[in-house]
Amino acid sequence: MKEFHVSTNAREVLVDITSEVEKCIPENGSGVCTVFSKHTTCGITINENADPDVQHDILLYLSEQIPQFYEGFRHFEHNSDAHIKTSFMGSSVSIPFERGKMCLGRWQGIYLCEFDGPKTRSVVVSFTA
Ligand code: ZN
Repeated sequence: MKEFHVSTNAREVLVDITSEVEKCIPENGSGVCTVFSKHTTCGITINENADPDVQHDILLYLSEQIPQFYEGFRHFEHNSDAHIKTSFMGSSVSIPFERGKMCLGRWQGIYLCEFDGPKTRSVVVSFTA
């Protein structure tokens, strides 16, 4: 198991962590890695890494659907939107890897989804053969 940290610079931002994850993959190893966020307001997803407008549009759409301030929200931290968005995106992804390389598609990147930053986040990468 390996762990690395990501410092985010905005309340909501998608950070491409593909190269950080790649560094964790065992040299010449094959198996499946799980990339896991240890937080309740920060998720992990895989999506397009070519056009940054995709990241913009994902955040825009989530914010339209899940406003930060919503009548009826009770949570005292006033970040219920961040908790809900994290559950929607999920806390982990699994990626097969072969001979030390992740089997990602040409346009796929791994993203840390910050919904309550800026913060320093911990990402765990574990492996099964
Ligand atoms: Zn909270």
